[in-house]
Parts: sequence; C-alpha cells; structure tokens
Amino acid sequence: MSSDHSARATLTIDLSAIQQNYDYMRSLADPRVKHAAVLKSDAYGLGLRPVAEALVEAGCTSFFVANLDEAVALRELFPEVAVNVLDGDCERFAATYERKELTPVLNTADDLDVIRRTSRPPAYVLNIDTGLTRLGLLPADVRRLFLAGTFERWPPVGIMSHLACSAMPDNPLNELQRRRFASLYRILRPGWGSLVASAGLWLGQRYHFDLTRLASALLGLNDPRIRPTPLASVLDLSAPIVHVRDLNEGESAGYGATWRARRRSRIAVVAMGYTHGLPWLSGNRIVAHIAEFTAPVVGRLSMEYLTVDVTDVPEQLCHRGSRVELLNDKTRIDDLADAVGTAAQEVLLRLGAGCQRTYRAAVPLCQRRFREAS
Ligand SMILES: *Cc1c(COP(=O)(O)O)cnc(C)c1O
Repeated sequence: MSSDHSARATLTIDLSAIQQNYDYMRSLADPRVKHAAVLKSDAYGLGLRPVAEALVEAGCTSFFVANLDEAVALRELFPEVAVNVLDGDCERFAATYERKELTPVLNTADDLDVIRRTSRPPAYVLNIDTGLTRLGLLPADVRRLFLAGTFERWPPVGIMSHLACSAMPDNPLNELQRRRFASLYRILRPGWGSLVASAGLWLGQRYHFDLTRLASALLGLNDPRIRPTPLASVLDLSAPIVHVRDLNEGESAGYGATWRARRRSRIAVVAMGYTHGLPWLSGNRIVAHIAEFTAPVVGRLSMEYLTVDVTDVPEQLCHRGSRVELLNDKTRIDDLADAVGTAAQEVLLRLGAGCQRTYRAAVPLCQRRFREAS
C-alpha cells in the first residue's frame, strides 16, 4: 500500500484549534484556577507528542497521563511540566517517580503504605472516590488516615476526585460529590484540589477548586448542553473514492442488502471502513461531504469500505481519487457519535488508531516536525 496519505483514510488534527479550545476553557474559570490537560491513551488517540506540544505552547504546564510509559515519554519531551500518573503503580516504580520527578496518583490505602515504606518517597497526588466508584480512597479512610497523622508526615501535593454525572447538571450526585470533596479539602489543606474534567467546568466556579483536568473539550468534544458549540472544530476525516458504480432501481448495496436504490443511482465506494475506526453502525446513519454537497452513507460498512449515494452530487466531483469527508466543521464527532449511539471519546480513540494522522498547526515548522516523526 502507498504511504502517500492522499490514498488513505486520513484524520487531520488541527493543533491550533486545540490551543483555541484551551484558551476558551480557561476563559470560563477564575484566572487563579489552573488547567491541566489529560493525555491518556495517546491523547485520546490523537498523538501524545503533537497534542502535548500544542498545549505547552498554549501555556499548559500540568498534565495527567494513564501510566508510567506515557509519563516517561512526556517527561522526555518536557523537563519542566508537572506530570501526574493516574494509575501510579508506585509499588514497583517508586524510584522512577522520584528520579524523573513524575507524580503518581495514589488510588488505594495500599498505595499509601508503599509511600510510607519508601525511603525517598516521590511527591504524590491523593485520589479520593467521592461517588464515581472507580479508583480512589473512600472519604472515611481519608479521615481515618488524617486522624492517624499520616498526611502530616506524608502530605500529598494535591488531592483529586472525579465526578460521575458532570454532563447532567441537575443530577444531585454532583453536589454530593462536591460537598464530600470540599470537606476533605478543608481538612487536608493540600497544595491543590482538583475535582472537574471538561463537563464539570460548566457546572460553575464552586466546582473548580484550584486545578481542572481537561481533555474532551480541548479536542472539540462538546458538552451536549451547550449549543451551538463554542469549541473550535479539531478534526477532519476524509478518504478517497476508489470506484463509482451505477445502480438500477431495486438493486442493493452492501452486506445484507440493507439499502436498495429507489431510482437509478450512482454509488461511490470509499476507502474507509470499520478497520479505520469508523463505527460499524454508521451504515445508513451518517452523511458524507463532497465539496459543498452532502450525500448519505448507504448500506452497511464493511471492513475497508463504505458506500455513498452520490446520485445528487455533480459527476465531475465524484471520480476515483476524489476525496469524501466524513467529519469536518459541519459534521462533528459529537454528531457522528449521536447518530450511532456511542460516546464521542470512543470514536475518537478508534479513528486515531485506525487512520493515517496528519497535523495542521499555526506554526508550519511544528507541522513539518510532527509529520516526520509520525
Ligand atoms: C479522562 C479523565 C479526565 C478528562 O476527562 P474529559 O471529560 O475528557 O475532559 C479527567 N480526569 C480523570 C480522572 C480522567 O480519567
């Protein structure tokens, strides 16, 4: 297969749009609040390095990643920024954290025991489960450890918790989690407290504490309550037409013959399928863009291809090699995820892993460097 991405399904990531979104989210909070970027899972599939570079350029100095591998990669790029590791695994790697100045997030009382046993313990973040039921110490355990003097001897640099329902502002769990977190914040007096991710930022300043942890919004994924979206569009997804077919009325396209032509039709076969990360359920549910025209994706997706009904698109725009867009500023990833009934984050991850990625940046030099690196 050609390595020329013009022949491939391509996800184009606009790094300056990510920077704009960082600025926008920052504008929603008090200027004293700081904003970390969460770049787990290869920056949600978009590439840890280019996304981190763009955010550092935009003024971000604090990051969260999923594991030590990502943390070490980030540390090698940026000697200065704060790197917090959500799944710390301090037991095995305490010395690495200390040496590379990485900050593990401690999720259990056992993790805290490791810190207490280590001769040169790394600085750490304490994660508290206020209601998500995922990772983190329970509030009662934090209180018990506080009364035993643990946090006087081994103070956390920061404390964090994660909201379960931040995209549902009326859910009472938000306020309950906020109050649980605030009361421990008052007791522990940590260097910083961090409760919200992207959607939580819209819940208002009482929820912000000192540090937010942002990913989705930076990547242009919108909170469903906020319409029209104030976030800049980050993604373009496109693929080439490899074949154009004429169909008679009554003939079908694709596996299962789920779509039939109601008139004489023209069908473009496009080199994008679920191997590239587009959900299988997209067939018969999404549209493609060809220049200023919109055309429905018809029939089931197959592994490498999808079919588009281009009967109403001028013929000179639809030939082998011309490109079709599945995502752009008119159809955004939230729309696609809604159409197939899944989470935009899941689609993003899969597209990032399945497509050729290219980057658009405000500074052309950056763009060139990322391209060479990828
Ligand atoms: C993934 C994650 C985030 C970022 O969430 P978004 O909703 O994508 O902004 C923040 N905090 C924690 C603990 C996470 O796991």
